[in-house]
Amino acid sequence: MKNHLSDRINSMSTSATLAMAAKARELKSEGKDIIGLSLGEPDFNIPDFIKEAAKQAIDQNYSSYSPVDGYADLKQSIANKFKRDNGLTYGLNQIVVSTGAKQSLANIAMVMLNDGDEVILPAPYWVSYSDIVKLAEGVPVEVPTSIDTDFKMTPEQLEKAITPKTKMIWFSSPCNPSGSVYNQEELEGLATVLRKHPNIFIVSDEIYEHINFIGGHVSIANIDGMYDRTITVNGVSKAFAMTGWRIGYIGGPEWIAKACNKFQGQITSGANAIAQRATIAALDAPISSIKFMIDEFHKRRDLVLELLGEIKGFNLNVPEGAFYVFPDISSFFGKTLNGTLINNASDFALYLLEKANVATVTGEAFGNANCIRISYAASEKELREAIARIKAVV
Ligand code: PMP
Ligand code: GLU
Repeated sequence: MKNHLSDRINSMSTSATLAMAAKARELKSEGKDIIGLSLGEPDFNIPDFIKEAAKQAIDQNYSSYSPVDGYADLKQSIANKFKRDNGLTYGLNQIVVSTGAKQSLANIAMVMLNDGDEVILPAPYWVSYSDIVKLAEGVPVEVPTSIDTDFKMTPEQLEKAITPKTKMIWFSSPCNPSGSVYNQEELEGLATVLRKHPNIFIVSDEIYEHINFIGGHVSIANIDGMYDRTITVNGVSKAFAMTGWRIGYIGGPEWIAKACNKFQGQITSGANAIAQRATIAALDAPISSIKFMIDEFHKRRDLVLELLGEIKGFNLNVPEGAFYVFPDISSFFGKTLNGTLINNASDFALYLLEKANVATVTGEAFGNANCIRISYAASEKELREAIARIKAVV
């Protein structure tokens, strides 16, 4: 039958992270012993005090539509969190709660971009950025970085990428997929360039802010001249292991928050009420309540770097945050491994899935064709076994 779908969906790629996770699930259900290191999803249980808050919300009959942009007391908790962790002052009218940070990002794209507006994406970037931008008829402009600069964009690279059509720059720090963390000086460098271009807006995706092994998370909105043009994106999926509860939020200029509220009012009517109530408990708790997860990720990061470092052909940087490593495996390109010719990162990721039963994600999905992404949000036992299997097949 003829394809009757819209050009919009026909030209959209499937999320590579979710596709690989689905593939790994399918193979597992067929009885294959797959170790899934493809999905960026904490493997911890949600802390009990958050679960209790959700149970209470059910008993207290939080069953109606919430305000579209989130409950006022949740927005107050978010404002307190921005102040406490980031030194940022956002009023309640500058905050919008959404169904995951993914929706926050989609809202921003839909309310900010016109046909042909360019969005600078330092590559590697999180898999969904480019498709979200394209959905809103924006044009992603990738700025390639490499392992030599720890996958960070320099001010010179930013300057060169700016054109009269540049509307925004989107980036995550700590970065998914590279784990790189922009420090104060590096963000000051980018801000110096942006100050010369007052019409460019910034999306600062800080969803991994607490999973930071060097301390000192810096929000670009805090840097001179950036506050009025930055939308700070965050959520509870990563820090509180609440991926399935689907709560994300933004802080930004009031006129942007208002537009996101209007857009969301026609799309979802607002985020899940029970999950919003539970998020208040999560955000009000001291950071020390999640320190055990961060310490564990730190330990695993060191383990994975040590074990992967023993494999010839894996070129690694030292990720300072998030829970991914992003090895450059381009030294395998053009080589034949156990009868399989490896031409690119997708071939390599497929080879690992088929021959080692380990699911990873090709770097191509993140705008870097020399790397693969390995999530270490898995148990030490699984990580040891997965890397031993990888070593055996390469
Ligand atoms: N931004 C980044 C950098 C991410 O890795 C993710 C992954 N979930 C998201 C946003 C979206 O998070 P969520 O929708 O679960 O809040
Ligand atoms: N952000 C996670 C990842 O990059 C979850 C999957 C997704 O939302 O795409 O793996």
